[in-house]
Amino acid sequence: MIKINEIFYSIQGETTYAGLPTVFIRTTGCNLRCTYCDTKYSYYEGTFQSQEQILEEIKKYPTPYICITGGEPLLQKEIFSFMKTLCDLGFKVSLETSGSKKIDAVDERVKIILDVKTPDSGEKNSFLVENLRWIKSSTEFKFVICSDQDIDWAENFCRQHDLFKNFTVLYSPSYGQVTETWLAEKILSKNSIAPFIRLQLQLHKYIWSPDTRGV
Ligand code: SF4
Repeated sequence: MIKINEIFYSIQGETTYAGLPTVFIRTTGCNLRCTYCDTKYSYYEGTFQSQEQILEEIKKYPTPYICITGGEPLLQKEIFSFMKTLCDLGFKVSLETSGSKKIDAVDERVKIILDVKTPDSGEKNSFLVENLRWIKSSTEFKFVICSDQDIDWAENFCRQHDLFKNFTVLYSPSYGQVTETWLAEKILSKNSIAPFIRLQLQLHKYIWSPDTRGV
């Protein structure tokens, strides 16, 4: 059984899958407490569901794209076998994780988005560096940027681990803290690394107002 906070059908607002109709499976529980968290309701609320029940729900929707998100999905052991089952059934699965839990047992067909926490998130030291042993060319690194300090920190992290030329690096403005324009200008001012950074807007927040469904 997996404790599920919600399952819903929407437009993927983030990552290189942005814009694609996607079923989101949000698991319950998170080991972090980011300052900007907009899914606090996922910390405790939810119901235990069998894999069969979840499959029955997601098969109602006409898309192969499934996003496993949270909370922190990797807190629940059964999520690993469930992601394998989804891949076996032909779904295109992406996983959003903070990288604070080991990713070694994630099925190799899953696209992993590592949401590396910056200083202003309040969870700067949460990323498990050993996870870098299990990343693949499809792995994406996401940094939610709240300030100049976060930009510098993200750049240092990417340089230190040689991410810019080898992986998709996403910078996302922290909603309500910095603007998209501010972040775009910051990226453009970084001549040597700008071509390796993808500005990520939370598309769903443009399509629907912030007080409706968020991801
Ligand atoms: S990892 Fe995600 S769900 Fe958990 S506190 Fe941070 S933003 Fe919220």
